[in-house]
Amino acid sequence: MADLDRIRAALRDESLEGIIIARPEDRLWASGFSGSAGTVLVTLDDAVLMTDFRYTEQAAAEAPGFRIVEGKPEGDVLPQIVMESRASRIAFDPSYATVLWFERLKHQLTGVDLVPCERLLVGLRARKTASEIDLMTKAAVIADNAFMTVLAKIRPGTSERDIALEMEFLMRREGAQRLAFDIIVASGKRSSMPHGRASAKLIEEGDFVTIDYGAEVSGYCSDATRTVVVGRASEEQRRVYELVLRAQTSALDAIGPGKDCAAVDAVARDIIKQAGHGEHFGHTLGHGVGLAVHEMPSLGERSAGVALVPGNVVSVEPGVYVPGWGGVRIEDLVAITEDGYKNLTHVPKHLIEIG
Ligand code: ZN
Ligand code: ZN
Repeated sequence: MADLDRIRAALRDESLEGIIIARPEDRLWASGFSGSAGTVLVTLDDAVLMTDFRYTEQAAAEAPGFRIVEGKPEGDVLPQIVMESRASRIAFDPSYATVLWFERLKHQLTGVDLVPCERLLVGLRARKTASEIDLMTKAAVIADNAFMTVLAKIRPGTSERDIALEMEFLMRREGAQRLAFDIIVASGKRSSMPHGRASAKLIEEGDFVTIDYGAEVSGYCSDATRTVVVGRASEEQRRVYELVLRAQTSALDAIGPGKDCAAVDAVARDIIKQAGHGEHFGHTLGHGVGLAVHEMPSLGERSAGVALVPGNVVSVEPGVYVPGWGGVRIEDLVAITEDGYKNLTHVPKHLIEIG
């Protein structure tokens, strides 16, 4: 959760007097309020959470630093509260607002500049506090335990969907409020699809099985991937697996505070390219994770000049996907610390041969 002082300092840096926060993850981060409807206004001297009748009691309990105002934010309450605040330069997130929302609000406000400000909260959210990292660590432990348990269920004849369902059950039983995303189970030739949803396909002897899984605890997500093989690995499977593993561990060796996001990506990418598989690694090395499963910072070529800072939590997930043959991805979730990183993923990383 946020510290209002950090939000206000960022507002002052941008010569802003307030910010309207409507995106659910941002609202939860800024206020602690976990309900499904509401809008927050933070100004330099006030913090207001507007929500409807269903949520006022919950809002008062979850967002103690906020003034709770009952009313539908899509009605008159938001312009009224903004006008009362007397703030004249107010930020909003154009990547979340609709044209309808913006046009209506603009007509209702007089003497107020609505300033599009896409990156302010994204930047603040990218630097996690210790308690945020604790929640992500909890989510990662629940998810890893489910993965280790489900390994015993992977055998020829089991469907990808059954493996995903079993994992979901295990995670939720152990305290995950929900899945961080739909579990990916991609086996055999399907493992060449980086985001192959679990299907009705049955597992076969010799299949690679890629499982990408994450749990959510108090809104915070985990994200990890392992690829295992059913039966004995072929020479080719072992060669590709060892390549991805070397790319992954080398990227981890290169990660830490002050390291350039594109340079970390390049470490893994160069290893995969040199082995002749450059075209088979078509996504970025990693992404920030937090209240959303994809947030800032991104570890990729386009993030040149962006340095990692303590509190960033990023995935490190190189992959090699060969169409018509199969693929391997190995993904850990790491928190950047003052002197390096802490790995939140604890499942084994060697090639597991099942059966
Ligand atoms: Zn993942
Ligand atoms: Zn990921």
